[in-house]
Amino acid sequence: MAVDPNILHSKLKTFFGYDAFKGDQEQIIRHLTDGKNAFVLMPTGGGKSLCYQLPALLMEGTAIVISPLIALMKNQVDAIRGFEAGDAGIAHFLNSSLNRAQIAEVQEDLLSGVTKLLYVAPESLTKEENIALLKSIKISFYAVDEAHCISEWGHDFRPEYRRIRSIVEEIQLAPIIALTATATPKVQSDILKNLRIQDAKVFRSSFNRPNLYYEVRDKVEPEKDIIRFIRQNPGKSGIIYCLSRKKVEEIAQMLCINGIKALPYHAGLDAKTRAENQDKFLMEEVDVIVATIAFGMGIDKPDVRFVIHYDIPKSIEGYYQETGRAGRDGMEGQCITYYSYKDIQKLEKFMQGKPVAEQEIGKQLLFETVAYAESSQCRRKLLLNYFGEDYPADNCGACDNCLHPKARFDGREEMSLVIELIEALPERFKLEHLAAILSGVSNAMIKSYKHDKLSLFGAGKDHDMRFWQAVIHQGLILHYLEKDIENYGLISATDLGLEFYLHPTELMLVEDRTFSEGEDDEDEDSAAAVRGGGGADEVLLAMLKDLRKDVARKLKLQPWVIFSDPALEDMTIVYPLTIKELSEKCQGVGEGKARKYGQPFVDLIAKWVEENEIERPDDFVVKSVPSKSGNKVYIIQSIDRKLDLEGIASAKGLDMDALLSEIEAIVATGTRVNLNYYINENLDPDVVQEIYDWFRDEATSDSLAEALAALTPDYEELEIRLVRIKFLCEVAN
Ligand code: ADP
Ligand code: MG
Ligand code: ZN
Repeated sequence: MAVDPNILHSKLKTFFGYDAFKGDQEQIIRHLTDGKNAFVLMPTGGGKSLCYQLPALLMEGTAIVISPLIALMKNQVDAIRGFEAGDAGIAHFLNSSLNRAQIAEVQEDLLSGVTKLLYVAPESLTKEENIALLKSIKISFYAVDEAHCISEWGHDFRPEYRRIRSIVEEIQLAPIIALTATATPKVQSDILKNLRIQDAKVFRSSFNRPNLYYEVRDKVEPEKDIIRFIRQNPGKSGIIYCLSRKKVEEIAQMLCINGIKALPYHAGLDAKTRAENQDKFLMEEVDVIVATIAFGMGIDKPDVRFVIHYDIPKSIEGYYQETGRAGRDGMEGQCITYYSYKDIQKLEKFMQGKPVAEQEIGKQLLFETVAYAESSQCRRKLLLNYFGEDYPADNCGACDNCLHPKARFDGREEMSLVIELIEALPERFKLEHLAAILSGVSNAMIKSYKHDKLSLFGAGKDHDMRFWQAVIHQGLILHYLEKDIENYGLISATDLGLEFYLHPTELMLVEDRTFSEGEDDEDEDSAAAVRGGGGADEVLLAMLKDLRKDVARKLKLQPWVIFSDPALEDMTIVYPLTIKELSEKCQGVGEGKARKYGQPFVDLIAKWVEENEIERPDDFVVKSVPSKSGNKVYIIQSIDRKLDLEGIASAKGLDMDALLSEIEAIVATGTRVNLNYYINENLDPDVVQEIYDWFRDEATSDSLAEALAALTPDYEELEIRLVRIKFLCEVAN
């Protein structure tokens, strides 16, 4: 059924409200309406859905859309119903979340021909009653969305996806369109083969995201580095990915305590909290979401400005997907990854319990990630090459390796040696194996092939394995070598490579980067305070104490209200020179306090630093999470939302006393809470005023014990504690 192009455009406008097609959409839709199979490779956000939604509305019969996630299905169905003014029955979904009545409604609409689009989960597609139902209606075509789920080399393999072809044959044949954002050659070939659509026309868009900046950082003090990064990017939205739920919780808390608005997101949280946290991120009530990879699927926040991988992702596919959530509006998107080889070893350890085949795949994917992380080549080039795409420019201008290029060397002899070895071997081998032979490193595999007896064994032993791996990797990118995608990883030389071998020319290569070993954070509390090595500056400390006394006298306040002793000590260690540094680098000093009292202090410090030519540490104190309890963040947020303290306490199974202790601990770290809504409602204003005055005029420290001793039994302990918190937050902090 050829469709008039004018009709296509007018339907695009009337159904979806768009003025023009994006990328290849129009060609893809035409191809499908012509009754032919199609394979669509388009990055996330490229507009794949429209490629089947629009033809479904135009063609005779019902289009079956196979999609892995119930949440995605529901969103899409709602969207179509919203776009198309007609009958709500135009789009339906069939999955395990429906009740009987809902299923009956879907059946009725299908049989009466109202439904143009039916979304099904692969599990539902395989059910007998559904097959019978679909046999009795006309199918316009099948769309297999997120088609990488067919391949074990994708990052979310779904075994039921493998049965799609046989079920399609059972129901009735119709054109198939497969769509995915995972474009590695291996996944692509798996999809085509498994769906038996090798004749499909392949529509491939570029996977380049020119506005994304890629950087891999050494994983040394990553918490601190992340805080610094976020402070340098104030008010911007960002996602931080961690591999474990525990890490997600820890990092989210650590950020909150350090004055960054952050929330956790992982599958271990209940659905309500998850939805709330996600909404707050979308509504920009929080800047940062700390998440496992459970977060992000189907999220369409256009202005995510940074994506940080606290832990290295398990595959390049995952990395590309997750970083892809930055800068969807085409504007700034910074992608920072922390890498240490320790993390890789941890991931390998996790794999050990899995079936051998899965382990093999997992290791290979991980190996690619390591190669990416350690490479000194353009990151964009590496990524695109991984997806089978060439990036023509030499310097992309937007990755760490292009901005800080490493020295290159003429590697023509080295590349020739690699090709010579490959040609000398009667069989094909993996990259690591070739590198081991050249560097003369023996292992069980080498011995079993007797490759340690080869004349080329150790022919390049001036260099280590990593060096040779880097050379081979660059050979792949230059197309001198290629990797057999069916036998994942086996390397051979291309015609281009053989040509180079016969007539070598200058070939500039670059060695890999080296990273530090990485810290072992298994047992230690990662959010522990990172302190300067003791050694406070005693003279400066005395001067600061004098200054504090003067200021206190002038303002008629107690000295401790101005700055606590620990805060002064921090000042003599990190030497803050600005109000901002003062609040960021010193324990117990919040922004408000720094602004109120800080100026003479930083002036004094600046003078001292200059006179004594002190080298300031490029350092700040990461404020630590006071206890291991996960309640702190919840409490801070609940108070922000002005919830009753009784309600907060009961939600967390605490009594009032324990809740107040938690709040006191929060306030002690310099975080401010505003309890006025509760105090005004529940305490006598005169009582509040009297207690408040006592703290201002008579207290000699912020000690709770001192206050209780002085004020009870005239006032209730609860009253004293609440007003103390109020006072600390308003005046002291
Ligand atoms: P994908 O499935 O490839 O990740 P989607 O189909 O979800 O992408 O589309 C991504 C975004 O692009 C959506 O917000 C969609 O509404 C929008 N979009 C799709 N096609 C067009 C178009 N022709 N013009 C403008 N926006 C479009
Ligand atoms: Mg999609
Ligand atoms: Zn680059």
